[in-house]
Amino acid sequence: MNRSIVLIALASANLALPVRAPAAGQPLLIENVTVLSPEQAQPRGNRYVLVRDGRIATVSERPITAPDARKLDGAGKFLTPGIMDGHVHVSDAVGLPPGSTDAGIAAMEKQFLKQQPRSYLYFGVTQVVDLINRPDRVAEFAAQPQHPDTFRCGVAPVVDGYPLVFFDPATRYSQFNDYIYEPANAREHPLPKGANPAEHTPEAVVERIAKTDAICVKITLEDGFGDRNDWPVMSMDTLRRVRAATKKQGLLLVVHANALDMQRKAVEGQVDVIAHGLWNWNELQNQPGVPAAIADHLRSIRDAKIGYIATLRVIPGVTELLDPTLLDDPVFAKVVPPAILKWYRTEPAQWFKTEIFGPKPDAAGILGGMRAANEHWATSENGVRALRHLYELGQPLLLGSDTPSAPTYGNQPGYDTFKEMRMMSQAGIPLSAIFAAATINNARQYRLEKDFGSIETGKIANLLLLDANPLASVDAWSRIDKVILRGEPIERDSLAAD
Ligand SMILES: [Zn+2]
Repeated sequence: MNRSIVLIALASANLALPVRAPAAGQPLLIENVTVLSPEQAQPRGNRYVLVRDGRIATVSERPITAPDARKLDGAGKFLTPGIMDGHVHVSDAVGLPPGSTDAGIAAMEKQFLKQQPRSYLYFGVTQVVDLINRPDRVAEFAAQPQHPDTFRCGVAPVVDGYPLVFFDPATRYSQFNDYIYEPANAREHPLPKGANPAEHTPEAVVERIAKTDAICVKITLEDGFGDRNDWPVMSMDTLRRVRAATKKQGLLLVVHANALDMQRKAVEGQVDVIAHGLWNWNELQNQPGVPAAIADHLRSIRDAKIGYIATLRVIPGVTELLDPTLLDDPVFAKVVPPAILKWYRTEPAQWFKTEIFGPKPDAAGILGGMRAANEHWATSENGVRALRHLYELGQPLLLGSDTPSAPTYGNQPGYDTFKEMRMMSQAGIPLSAIFAAATINNARQYRLEKDFGSIETGKIANLLLLDANPLASVDAWSRIDKVILRGEPIERDSLAAD
């Protein structure tokens, strides 16, 4: 799968995206509700929650009198913070061929981008962090009338490195300027002709990103997928300079790394967040259990307090394309506009599936072969074992779906966040740890806990009113009565694509 992540025409537009102030709408009073907030060990029953000016004003055991407030009856329901997905990409319309000039595709792309923020909200995702993006598309996402609070990283790949490797070498550097020149790769990957070396030092690139609205810098430690292992990566020396520069500029450092050797570099470089799970164990790939070297590495992540986003959905999001019943799942209709869902069933829509698996793939044969070979990209098993081990070591887990990790219609906004939570649960992670991952842990790791992550006075009122208890069943995260966005209650059904 050497094209598993096709990204995203990277643009260097410099759009400021300030965090909006909460709306000053009518106050909201949620009465007699069970409050679940991750910093509390126990649910608190029969609570009264008052929201004013888009923020939580009071959480009380006693009824609150607020004649000017709209009232919501919370009897029998559960109030939680909204979900934060710490690894998304909102620039691309999922499954559509990138760079197409076809008018029909362009029309579908418009529809997708309009629905996308609502699909996240449909699954209770009220904050997203986009780790690689086109800033203009992030701004478009956040300009929709109903959208999650939106944060982004600026991406700083090395010359010819991932993800630039997917772009036409003739034009990649006219589209994208925030690349870092890596002297260690100078012979095979020199600075592009005409570029000014002073603008492509780690310090200069990080400083440019710091002048945008980005909260983080994303770098990539990736030497290739599948049969490729020759993409240039950053040296330790450059990584240390990027680390120093991000600290100086007050930016978080997030790294793409899913292989043992690459994640070891990330730990040595003291990054803030590793944006993928450890599913490529290099020469330990087919070892049973958790080999000592893997356990040592995971312990080093915990000890350094580095965030770890398991992204269990990356591989199933691609392999599910082999399932002929995938699109029969009625939930797709809730998050995909009808015309696009219809198009997904057509022959041209199978372009990515064909690219990965060839024409007319024998699904059973391919999946069986993958399992037999335990190919690192073909099974989530190693990633699942690594996640469970990290949890047992006491690591505070994070939630991130990497939607879409590739142009596969198997990864849909919002629905995939939910599926990631479901996979964590199937992996044996307790529901309380999944709850914390989706809320307070993500907020802390991205330094957003002043505004998000718990139901406490002063925080932004991005909340979910659920019909079932998410500490009793992971499916409760899909039993949403209302999404409350900055104090505005929204009926879930009104967010659906159909
Ligand atoms: Zn990603």
